[in-house]
Amino acid sequence: MAHKFIDNYREKGARKKLVEILKDRHIEDEHVLAAIGKVPRHYFFDETFWNQAYKDIAFPIGDGQTISQPYTVAYQSQLLHIKPGDKVLEIGTGSGYQSCILLELGAKVYTIERQENLYNRTKKVLPHMGYHPEFFCGDGSKGIPEHAPYDKIIVTAGAPVIPEVLLKQLKVGGILVIPVGDEKTQKMVTVLKVSETDYEKIVLDTFRFVPLVGDQAW
Ligand code: SAH
Repeated sequence: MAHKFIDNYREKGARKKLVEILKDRHIEDEHVLAAIGKVPRHYFFDETFWNQAYKDIAFPIGDGQTISQPYTVAYQSQLLHIKPGDKVLEIGTGSGYQSCILLELGAKVYTIERQENLYNRTKKVLPHMGYHPEFFCGDGSKGIPEHAPYDKIIVTAGAPVIPEVLLKQLKVGGILVIPVGDEKTQKMVTVLKVSETDYEKIVLDTFRFVPLVGDQAW
């Protein structure tokens, strides 16, 4: 994938419009909107498709991979209530766009992808864009116990149930955001870890994610 990382006025303008679209769709967190306004989403696209990069749609970006819809990325990011310095585990690196948003929010990001080709590609490309999460390849449905506990955990693939092991890897006061449902649709769920044994769960809107495949999932 030969990439030209050029951020022209046209793309900058389109990005501002995307922020307005997300505001209209009730994304209200100013920090999240600012992060969407900063990350050059067209860098993830072949130049031929730059005119698609700032539409609020998911888009195939090669290797059978899709970059998530900006609304979905903003929605999950908003639910995490990221504070600068938060240690965040992201399960499902994919294109790396969500990782960039988390980094712009000031998080220290640990991101894991099970597909080796995607892991290799994103690990190579993101640093060229100036983004430096910690990359891992493997089954994220088990979390990454070596680096636990985390302030926040975000799952960007649809799970059949909330993996218990992820709750264990959260700090007290930490938040897990995960889409839970069947292969077709999922409800966004946030879990606040109130104490070592108590959790507050909130079930929110319906989304459509690719399945979380692994030991603690499909
Ligand atoms: N966050 C991504 C979107 C990812 S799509 C972005 O911003 O573009 C979901 C990704 O989760 C896919 O790449 C899929 O391969 C990956 N995935 C599915 N099950 C997984 C698992 N158990 N561990 C790690 N990654 C997984």
